Amino acid sequence: MNKMNITLHFEGEKLFAETEISLDKNLSELSFILNSGLEISGVSCDEKSAEPTIESVYEPLFCAEVKKYSVKCGSDFGRIKICYSGKINGWHNIITDDIIELNRYGVWLPCEMSCEVQSFLTVSGCEDFFLVKGEFDGQWHYSAGEWDMNIILYRKSKLQTVSGKYISIYYADKSLDEAAEFSKNVFEDVLNYYTKELFQREYLGSHMEMACLYPALTSGGAYKRYGLIVCITPGTDEKEAVTVNAHEMAHTWCSGAEVGSWEDWLNETTAEWSMLLYCLDRNKNEIFDKMIAEHMEKYPEFPPIKTADGSHPDGVHTKGTIVFYELYKAFGAETIKSIIRLFVDLDVKTTANLLDKMKALGLNEAAEFLTKYVS
Ligand SMILES: [Zn+2]
Repeated sequence: MNKMNITLHFEGEKLFAETEISLDKNLSELSFILNSGLEISGVSCDEKSAEPTIESVYEPLFCAEVKKYSVKCGSDFGRIKICYSGKINGWHNIITDDIIELNRYGVWLPCEMSCEVQSFLTVSGCEDFFLVKGEFDGQWHYSAGEWDMNIILYRKSKLQTVSGKYISIYYADKSLDEAAEFSKNVFEDVLNYYTKELFQREYLGSHMEMACLYPALTSGGAYKRYGLIVCITPGTDEKEAVTVNAHEMAHTWCSGAEVGSWEDWLNETTAEWSMLLYCLDRNKNEIFDKMIAEHMEKYPEFPPIKTADGSHPDGVHTKGTIVFYELYKAFGAETIKSIIRLFVDLDVKTTANLLDKMKALGLNEAAEFLTKYVS
C-alpha cells in the first residue's frame, strides 16, 4: 500500500506540514487537492525538486476552496515530498493557543490523490497538548482514513474530561462542568433507548469521544465520525444536550445513503427522527415541539429534496424532517419507527429501495404519501 507520512506542527494561527509519500510502484504524475489558503513551499520527487501545476480552483461539497495540483518530474518517481504552510479555513477548522481542530472540510492534507494512500500523522511540538484519539510516545501519532483525519488538540492545562462507560467528553472551559456531566447522562439514556427500543440491537461501535470546541468555536453545529462526536458544547440546556447526543448517535445506524447526493436526506431525516422519537418516548414533548417549530420556520426557504441532476440540495435535514412530520401526523409514531428500521436494514440505501420495502411490508399508503414529496 502507498503510504503518506505527514509531520505537522503549529506556530500561532498557522500550520506547517511536511508530507512524504512512498509509492509501491513508480509513477510519472501525481495529483491532489489542498486548501487554497495553504501555500506549497517545496515539492521534490526522489530528491529532485519539482514545480506543481495548478489544474483548477474550486469548492468541493461542504469544503473550503481548494486548488487541484499535479506534479510531474520528467521521469517516473517512487517518492514525493510536499511541504506547505498557512492559515486554515473551512467549516469546523480552527487553530488557537489552547484548542486546535482540523478536519477534512478544511482539506488541510493532500486529498483526492490520484493514487490511493494510507495516511500516518505525527504532530511535533505538541507535548503540552492532548490529541483526541491519538497515541503518544514522546510525540503524538494518529492514523485514519482521509475523512477521519480529525485533528483535535487541547492544551493539557485547560483540558477537562467527564467519562462514562461508553463516552468521554472533552472540553476546555470549566463553565461547562455541569453541562458535561448532564450530557453524559443524556448520552447513556439515548444509547439505552436506541439499543433496547428503537434499533433493538447492541451498540458495537467503539467508546465514544465527544470533543467540544467552545470557546475556540462558538457556532457551527456538530458532526460524527467513527467513535467521535465533534460539537461546540456538550449542550448548555437540556434541548441542546438531547439534540446533539441523540441526532449524532443515531448516525451509528442511520447512515449509508450517498452523502454527496440528494439521497443524503435519508441519513439526516432518519437520524433527526430517531432523536424526535426519543423525545416522545421519554416525555420530552417540549423539546419535540421546539425542534419541529424550528424546522417548520426554516422549511419554506429550501428547494425540493430531489434534484434533477442528483446533486445535494440545501436543507435536506430540515425538509426531510418536516416530510416525516407530515407522515407522523397521518400515520403515527409506529409507522415512523418501522420506516427508520427498514432504512437501517437496507442493503443499498436509496429512496427507491426504501419505498419498495415499505410496500412489501404493507405500508402502501405511507409509501404513496412519501412518494409525493421525494420524487
Ligand atoms: Zn446528521
